[in-house]
Amino acid sequence: MSFIEVALALPLFRTFSYRVPIGMTGSVVAGSRVVVPFRNRQELGIVIGAADPREGMKVKDIVSAPDDAPVMDQSMLALCQWIAEYYVVPLGVALRTALPAALTGATVPVPVRKTRRVAEIVVELTSLLQRDEIFARAPQQRALYELIEAMGGRAAVELLNEKLAFSASVLKGLVSRQLVALDYETVERDPFLTRARRTPDSHTPTGPQRVAIDRLAIAAPGHVALLHGITGSGKTLVYLELLRRVVIDEGKTAIVLVPEIALTPQTVDRFRAVFGDRIAVLHSALSDGERYDAWLALRRGEKRIAVGARSAIFAPLRDLGAIIVDEEHEGSYKQGEAPRYHAREVAIVRARAEGAVVVLGSATPSLESWSNAASGKYELLTLPDGAGGARLPHVHVVDLRADKPKAKPTDTPDADAAFAMAISRPLDVALRDRLSKREQSILLLNRRGYSAFVQCGTCGDVAVCPNCSISLTHHRTPERLVCHYCQHAEPLHVTCTRCGGSRLRQRGLGTQQVERMLSERYPSARIARMDVDTTSGKWAHTEILDRVGAGEVDILLGTQMIAKGLDFPNVTLVGVIDADVGINLPDFRASERCFQLLSQVAGRAGRGSKGGEVFIQTRAPSHHAVQCAVTHDYHRFVHEELAGRKHPAYPPYVRIANVVVSGTQEDATARLATGAAAWLHKLLAARPAPGVSVIGPAPCPVERVKNRWRWHVLIKADRAQDLGRVGRYLVERFEVPKQFGLRLTLDRDPVALL
Ligand code: ADP
Ligand code: ZN
Repeated sequence: MSFIEVALALPLFRTFSYRVPIGMTGSVVAGSRVVVPFRNRQELGIVIGAADPREGMKVKDIVSAPDDAPVMDQSMLALCQWIAEYYVVPLGVALRTALPAALTGATVPVPVRKTRRVAEIVVELTSLLQRDEIFARAPQQRALYELIEAMGGRAAVELLNEKLAFSASVLKGLVSRQLVALDYETVERDPFLTRARRTPDSHTPTGPQRVAIDRLAIAAPGHVALLHGITGSGKTLVYLELLRRVVIDEGKTAIVLVPEIALTPQTVDRFRAVFGDRIAVLHSALSDGERYDAWLALRRGEKRIAVGARSAIFAPLRDLGAIIVDEEHEGSYKQGEAPRYHAREVAIVRARAEGAVVVLGSATPSLESWSNAASGKYELLTLPDGAGGARLPHVHVVDLRADKPKAKPTDTPDADAAFAMAISRPLDVALRDRLSKREQSILLLNRRGYSAFVQCGTCGDVAVCPNCSISLTHHRTPERLVCHYCQHAEPLHVTCTRCGGSRLRQRGLGTQQVERMLSERYPSARIARMDVDTTSGKWAHTEILDRVGAGEVDILLGTQMIAKGLDFPNVTLVGVIDADVGINLPDFRASERCFQLLSQVAGRAGRGSKGGEVFIQTRAPSHHAVQCAVTHDYHRFVHEELAGRKHPAYPPYVRIANVVVSGTQEDATARLATGAAAWLHKLLAARPAPGVSVIGPAPCPVERVKNRWRWHVLIKADRAQDLGRVGRYLVERFEVPKQFGLRLTLDRDPVALL
């Protein structure tokens, strides 16, 4: 090719023509990378085909062609073209997403650090009195000690210093008092390669499993099946049998998508037990270099199965035979930045193009997938019962309004009263029972930090982030107020910043506070906390989960991340401390997310032969999300939830795109959003598109984030094509002034409207 068309990862909806000088080495064919001159810079682009420039058009020469072979084959190019079209992003942006960072020049691969310094607790202070005494004059030491404790008694010093802003002297103090010791440890490059191999699953499939396996064996290329089965119903065995046939018998390849690798080490282990070295695990802790190695191994066919989160859908496999999307309802399959693709949708498009079979698995399928199954677009495969003798746990509802303890009307209720507000009597009794029987418990509270917010008891003022329209969360280790949207942190106020009042009240429990209460109430219990604050280390999740698996933890407390695919037979109790977190968010998926989370966490109890029990504490016991989770009634939930999405119409009844306008100035942002809505109305008047409507503009539920004001406009459409056409028109033609940092983004099939 002497003239080529090149896509660049720039916010421009067009490609550019270049000339390939004679004698240029390297491969310059569709799918290979080229370095090209662009506006006095050099840019890395992907060749998408031959160009045919008009006579007399000035065409520049490319600078270099680094590849001997194309980095993308035709089908991957086509997939990226679909993403660019559907999600309304420039082709170059979609292409960049599909390649490992090492190939897009976005980052330089960093060498893996081999050793690191860790701090380990050597004296365990189990008595609170003793703790108060020892740390009486060293609150910072106490905070650090408790942080290390919360991280499992051992934590990388680097993490403590950098991420959590402790000065070195605090740690030195703890070390010189011989409460904490310093050590060096080797950082494992890839624990998934060294984890103990478990024995492969070798069960005889149950009847329903057999049916599912047989149906998938005769599925036509591009077929999509929704595998609906409660947690523990044996979906993984169906996946394994499908892969065995596709990969081993037929010699093809496969992709397994999981919501998050770090949270599903057990699932990954089960695949590795059967397929061993044929698997490449694409987890987020890989360095760019390691990720590139895995990518190469997949492309060369040395690895035949890619297991990973969202982006593993771009694994460069040929002869693709199957794609599995486990927990297909998970919001993490949607990318939060451009291209805002949903890995489940990309999986289906890719499978259709390459003739693979898709299995979407879930205990609580998304309403979209469910209605596609109901309409016959997907095949529905059902696993009705627990497979390995697992029974559904018994679920109790604790109505927090009725069981409210009689708290004394003071600002600082005593520890017992405070505990009773967090852990109801029945849950307390059940926890004690498990502790005495040496069985394990899981407690869910989907709110990290110490308390949700701090409110002045005099004027009612709540401390809010200066950059975002959101209240600040109180964190204890270290003591400060933190914004969960922009990470802004400030010292805890002693007095109200508005009225000067000194009666500041903690509102809303966070995991840190519950952890503290639990350790006071059950001094001998071994408690582990798992939330974003204790898992910032690369392998922190796996470390905590391994300890639970080894029986070294009595109570695992955490946010939604503990609800994922864990299978611990000795967990016989699950408590949900506050089921209502998030239930009232102004988002059409709020109930669905709540139901999914409750169902999922309830499924953690009773995985073994001992059975299980679940306590859900709530102030909304009659809410259908809570009720249906209690009765394990997915069908009723779908029925009621669908009824609620008819008027006003929301997915799955319509397709929507969320157009968000943001800027540093409030007025300008509102004006631009109003302008965008008016522009859309005019467009629809000039070129009528039946079934398309425009809602808004309105401020986003979270009106300001990181100093940017946010407004949005919703486009709804009966048909996907119309939504695409209108959205594309808007993004490409509507002019956004270059001032006040104004931006317009379009999020197609959004998972949240916050
Ligand atoms: P899911 O993936 O649907 O949550 P799992 O595949 O984890 O369910 O299965 C739950 C448990 O049942 C596992 O311990 C698994 O080993 C066991 N199991 C699965 N299928 C069978 C079977 N056919 N016979 C006996 N045990 C089974
Ligand atoms: Zn903020």
